[in-house]
Amino acid sequence: MNGILPLKGSIKHYDWGGFNLIPSLLLIDNSAAKPFAEYWLGTHPMGPSTVETEKGEISLEEVTGSLPFLLKVLDVREMLSIQVHPTREAAQLEFEKENAKGIPLDSPTRNYKDGNHKPELMVALDDFWLLHGFKSPEELVYTLLNVVELRELLPIFNQSGYPGLYKHLMEMPQDEVNRILKPLINNIAAIEPDVQPDKYDEDYWAAKAANKFAVDGNMDRGIFSIYLFNIVHLKKGEGIFQDAGVPHAYLEGPNVEVMANSDNVLRGGLTTKHIDVPELLKHIRCKPIYPRILEGQAIGQYERAYIAPVNDFTLSAFELNKDESTSFTPSNPTAFVLTEGYAVLHDGSRQVELQPGHAAAIALPGTQVSIRASLKSTVFKAFGSVHRGE
Ligand SMILES: [Zn+2]
Repeated sequence: MNGILPLKGSIKHYDWGGFNLIPSLLLIDNSAAKPFAEYWLGTHPMGPSTVETEKGEISLEEVTGSLPFLLKVLDVREMLSIQVHPTREAAQLEFEKENAKGIPLDSPTRNYKDGNHKPELMVALDDFWLLHGFKSPEELVYTLLNVVELRELLPIFNQSGYPGLYKHLMEMPQDEVNRILKPLINNIAAIEPDVQPDKYDEDYWAAKAANKFAVDGNMDRGIFSIYLFNIVHLKKGEGIFQDAGVPHAYLEGPNVEVMANSDNVLRGGLTTKHIDVPELLKHIRCKPIYPRILEGQAIGQYERAYIAPVNDFTLSAFELNKDESTSFTPSNPTAFVLTEGYAVLHDGSRQVELQPGHAAAIALPGTQVSIRASLKSTVFKAFGSVHRGE
């Protein structure tokens, strides 16, 4: 089989999801206000896609084999957990270790679901907020001086740096966590809320987190991380890459994301799920990260590529005005998702119309594919170089 086929993804209704973006992309009535968190396009066993063929609907994997990447549309209404992903080498090693220990794959204490890394590259579809890596030393010292309740942490940072401070906070007894964070959260709550909240202000997210994750009056120690990490704001069309070891948490907004086909997540707070502190400390990059916002590099007139230093996937976006068109020849199975407008993909014999309700397609190698916009359109394109054999 070659050419272009309509693709149907898999919806994830995680409770942090938004109500409008994915339903309007897929033309699904959501008057019941069900959360629609993610739309998956790929062959991941937890949510495999299907394609429509002359013979009816069949699994994507039957047509392409297992894809090395997973393409997603995300709509973050409420913040996600703080997380770190391991390197491929570490994931292989630790996955084998957990297998040898006989921990079932679906056990809540299982850290490694497979032997692969999980680098993630995302592009914002509108204003997007996330935590990404430790702040610079100057900014961190400034925060620890200015947030009175956290001032007692400054000597620890001065003495033992990022690893010492982070270990201290992650291993701190829960009573101590409450002693520091309860007054902090109470003091934030006492301030008259602004009409326009300042989302660059850590207090804004800390109050939200305290609201969501306080269990039995205990404070979630992930709230410390809101003050330690960079708060990054992406505007529509800007991207960012989460490399192995970089702690991150998606706070709010819609995006398109591509990742390696893996489910290896080590959590570090803002969650009710399992946290394995020693394992987290082994893999987190305890050093300052200077966020690199990706604007996308122009390829020809209509395409922008978001470049990440991994060979698992490539992500780009076509921006076409009405009646503009371009063409290319895929060398690997290539997934498309329309996030705006109405565009037609053509392979010489078949055409697939991308529009709300039918937002995705897969192109198989072997034929040239053209894309023409019927309205001003944005179409994301992802493919993976098949990376196997380690
Ligand atoms: Zn992640």
